[in-house]
Amino acid sequence: MIRLTFYIITALFISLVIAWVASNPGQIIITWQGWEVRSTIAVFIFLIILYTAAIWAFLRLLKWLNISSYLDSPKRLAAKRRKGGIDLDQAWSALALGDHDQATKMGLRAKSKLGEDHNVLRLLASAAKQSGKIDNPYFEALKKAPQSAPWALKQELDQLIELKSWEEALPIAEIMLSEHPDNKNLVEVRFLLLARLGHWYDAREALKGKGKISPSLKGHLIAVVEYCLALEEKAAGKKNEAQALTKSALKNDAKFAPAAILSARLYLEQGDQKSAEKILNAIWKRSPNSEIADMLIDLYPLESAREIYRRVKTASEKAAESTERQHLLARAAIDVGNWPEARHALDLNIASGKPTKTTYQLLAQLEREQKDDNVAAQKYIELSEKLKDDFPWECNACQSVFHRYVPICPTCQEFDSLINPSFT
Ligand SMILES: [Zn+2]
Repeated sequence: MIRLTFYIITALFISLVIAWVASNPGQIIITWQGWEVRSTIAVFIFLIILYTAAIWAFLRLLKWLNISSYLDSPKRLAAKRRKGGIDLDQAWSALALGDHDQATKMGLRAKSKLGEDHNVLRLLASAAKQSGKIDNPYFEALKKAPQSAPWALKQELDQLIELKSWEEALPIAEIMLSEHPDNKNLVEVRFLLLARLGHWYDAREALKGKGKISPSLKGHLIAVVEYCLALEEKAAGKKNEAQALTKSALKNDAKFAPAAILSARLYLEQGDQKSAEKILNAIWKRSPNSEIADMLIDLYPLESAREIYRRVKTASEKAAESTERQHLLARAAIDVGNWPEARHALDLNIASGKPTKTTYQLLAQLEREQKDDNVAAQKYIELSEKLKDDFPWECNACQSVFHRYVPICPTCQEFDSLINPSFT
């Protein structure tokens, strides 16, 4: 009934339009390149209707010939997906070879066949990242889907860390950590970002309880942070607080020499040589370095060379075999004229295959003082000049060398990257 009413109204409307057109006969003139076509409105409308009918008939014909179903056929779609997959593989290969332009080209070709597929977006995001682009629209697209967001965030985080943009990287690490609070890599990354930014209290909190970082690594990292806090307290004149922090640092990592050295310095400032000696002897046993050796030698300003030799010998005997141990022993022995002991200690360094510049300098000193042999001494000086200077600390990220430990490398801004090269 409704449909019939609709047809009647439509027919009535069409006849009204026809009647109106018939009573208002207009003219249409089309001129083009010297040609002129004149027609009435009625004929013009008739031609439009004819054109529409022809299109409709053509589409019916296509449907009848089954062409559209061919376009959507599963076989054809599968072939298209396969080609897209090959493009994507080639794009990843180009990326692996470092050719990000080719990777992007093949990635876009894959995208035209596979659409906004996550794997395609991942490739395009990686290629854009490799080209060094900071604004990466593909990361943004991937971050919107929960299943691909962790990957995109991790890539962005890595890129910011590579660019040393600690400030920008920190909130991303925090977003990721809120989703995966027990992930030990994320706990460590966030800790390192806070530490590189000098947020020592937050850094120490970041390590407490959460994540499954190995206890020894956690202990060491807390020790470094506490050492940094101790330095700040010392600079503020709060020596007791600083000393308490160095003690806590050594409890967390008994091998962390900088905390022991700072503790000994604080004792020496108070005139407490005995406590400083205890701390220095303990750290000398675990991780000897030339800075501790210098402090051990100069500990008691009024001591005679013989007293120094006896004290240093006792300390050395308890320490593990190391280049630093032989150097300290040789120095003290040369000062008291104990030539056999000095030579034995230095020969051990030569035999270990790890003689350093200091080893040869001490041998030269020995040749001069024992035998007054300047020719032999010169030979050792020449050997020493072929080696690089002895530094107690070297950055394992940028290879800069330092006399004193610093928690953040001034050259490359890495946190806790300084190692004792004679100990590796
Ligand atoms: Zn460095």
